[in-house]
Amino acid sequence: MEKIEQLFTFIDGEAGRFVESENVTYLDGVLEALNNWISGEKIPEGEWDRNDIRKGIQLALLKGMRESAQVNHQMTPDSLGLIVGYLVDQFFEDTLAENKTITMLDPAIGTGNLLLTVMNLIGDKITGAGVEMDDLLIQIAAVSADLQQQPVALYHQNALMPLLIDPVDAVVCDVPVGYYPDEEYANKHYEIHAEEGMTYAHHLFIEKAMNQLREGGYGFFLVPSNIFESEQARHLFAYVKANTWIQAVIQLPSNLFKKQQLSKSIFVLQKKGENVKPVKDVLLAKVPTLSNPDALEQFFCTCS
Ligand code: SAM
Repeated sequence: MEKIEQLFTFIDGEAGRFVESENVTYLDGVLEALNNWISGEKIPEGEWDRNDIRKGIQLALLKGMRESAQVNHQMTPDSLGLIVGYLVDQFFEDTLAENKTITMLDPAIGTGNLLLTVMNLIGDKITGAGVEMDDLLIQIAAVSADLQQQPVALYHQNALMPLLIDPVDAVVCDVPVGYYPDEEYANKHYEIHAEEGMTYAHHLFIEKAMNQLREGGYGFFLVPSNIFESEQARHLFAYVKANTWIQAVIQLPSNLFKKQQLSKSIFVLQKKGENVKPVKDVLLAKVPTLSNPDALEQFFCTCS
């Protein structure tokens, strides 16, 4: 049996035991299994590196999410996380070459899979922070980060409200999509707000994330591919133009998503600042399907 499968079988078995004995959901069972692992009560036999652990947990979470999660709570799979991680690595190439540590925030951290995929790819020269409203998901993110020995500070709150987090070098975010219900708050505190009615939460997340960045820092956003086609797109354009330098817009292969309407793109923005100059050419690209290795290799060579 493959290593990752072995680990999944362990987590799955333990989670299943809790589902039966405690009458909880499978995701609650996964959390319980991971807590027992970290406390030393029930440890899987074998040797696991960070990525084995992340992938084993990812398989269990995928199983649990098929059972219960809403679209907006879905974990970001590593097919997307690895592309984001590759871009982070490219944009911070010089900083990392100087052996400096980068700080990274995910304001909608969910299970932590996206942030941890990127952190594991970068190695040890990164510290993380994450914000999440959901009780269960933030606990999963916490224990998963601990098992992977990645330093992640977690904040259990609404990320669109004030955050006590110092400015970071980078933000990664698979933004929650939909309308933000607190119209009054959005109108008062966000530039990007709609003239009438509720503003899109995904737009507010972009503004919030840019505010959390230091000058010259980068935001890597997984956004709906049709983000520029909505009736509120002009507010997003105006905000982006005034406050950021667009670095890249990368369309992801639609076969990575269940439905064409749910397909996503990666939007990379740099926060403007006194000594921050715009790039000569914005990278506009389409990632080839992941089953075509030659085309993929060419894509990554073009991006580097
Ligand atoms: N990248 C995450 C992962 O790998 O698990 C998945 C992110 S999921 C697409 C979006 C997350 O945003 C959900 O976990 C949801 O609970 C959270 N969320 C939605 N609105 C939020 C808010 N206002 N503040 C904090 N978290 C929020």
